[in-house]
Amino acid sequence: MLRKAKLAALGLLKNAGVFELVADSGWRRRRLLILCYHGISLEDEHQWRPQLYMPVELLEQRLETLRAMRCSVLPLGEALTRLWHGDLPPRSVAITFDDGTYDFYKQAYPLLKKHGYPVTVYQTTYYTDHEIPIFNLTCSYMLWKGRGEQLDSSWDLGLSEPMDLRTELGRHRIVRGLIELSERENLTGGQKNELARRLAQALGIDYSAVAAKRILQLMNPQELAAVGRDGVDVQLHSHRHRTPDEEVLFRREISENRDRIRALTGTQPTHFCYPSGVYRREFLEWLNRESVVSATTCDAGLVSRHDDRFLLPRFVDTTGRTQLEFESWLSGVGSLMAVRRAAPQRYVVPED
Ligand SMILES: [Zn+2]
Repeated sequence: MLRKAKLAALGLLKNAGVFELVADSGWRRRRLLILCYHGISLEDEHQWRPQLYMPVELLEQRLETLRAMRCSVLPLGEALTRLWHGDLPPRSVAITFDDGTYDFYKQAYPLLKKHGYPVTVYQTTYYTDHEIPIFNLTCSYMLWKGRGEQLDSSWDLGLSEPMDLRTELGRHRIVRGLIELSERENLTGGQKNELARRLAQALGIDYSAVAAKRILQLMNPQELAAVGRDGVDVQLHSHRHRTPDEEVLFRREISENRDRIRALTGTQPTHFCYPSGVYRREFLEWLNRESVVSATTCDAGLVSRHDDRFLLPRFVDTTGRTQLEFESWLSGVGSLMAVRRAAPQRYVVPED
């Protein structure tokens, strides 16, 4: 209801010319909108996780809207420097992609290039060197594909209960069970891949076909090097997509991530994005000690020069956002009317 009322209000504001007024205001001029994207579907991933994946047609529409609304799309580093110096161009926007998946290379990047837009990829690197599907996401995706079923082959996978795929919660419990099993038994990436293959077998899914399509895989070293050479700004997202609570381990995630990116692209990454948008106060100082320049969250907002440089908000664009909402955020109205700003501080769990 609240959302319906908000969309109706946005419609009225747009028709009354308020979007244009705010977009041209001094207030908006002193602010930067950082857009956050995750994956662009190779097949049906957006139906599985609409908050993580969007169809390529929707991304194309977004990029056309940026042009139609005369936004100034800047490289992230330049945008932040100009924000801090107070000389941003009108309607400033920076585009970021989290994780650095193969679908970025295959789907998103050609479109961005066609439109001539600079882009930052926050690259997590562990799976870069292991050209295999990301374990927890792939298990979740395959269970979603087998939804509606109840299977008894759980013993084959080391799970204690039969697999109930009929609800999101049931599927989530199986993924949790598989993750816990892999941690308890200290499985390597290769062994986790075998476990995922066994799950696929139980579900009657051709795992080799999923793997061959590169669904839920990261860019491999050659692809990452190629986009880096082509001008994509590759930045930090931790090596294993995690942020340990211990300083030594946290900083190791940053340094391993940085070393891998530097080796593959020849550039020195200095901007960071919190995996899953999860942050704690103490991380800010640890990032500072690693000479990181900025860090983005998944909290909703436009960035102003008063924001802490290690807590920069973004607009997480998803399949569920309407065209009107997207335009409201480009103009700045969306930020003014945001109901909830802070992103949930937890790792990915399903909504029941
Ligand atoms: Zn991520």
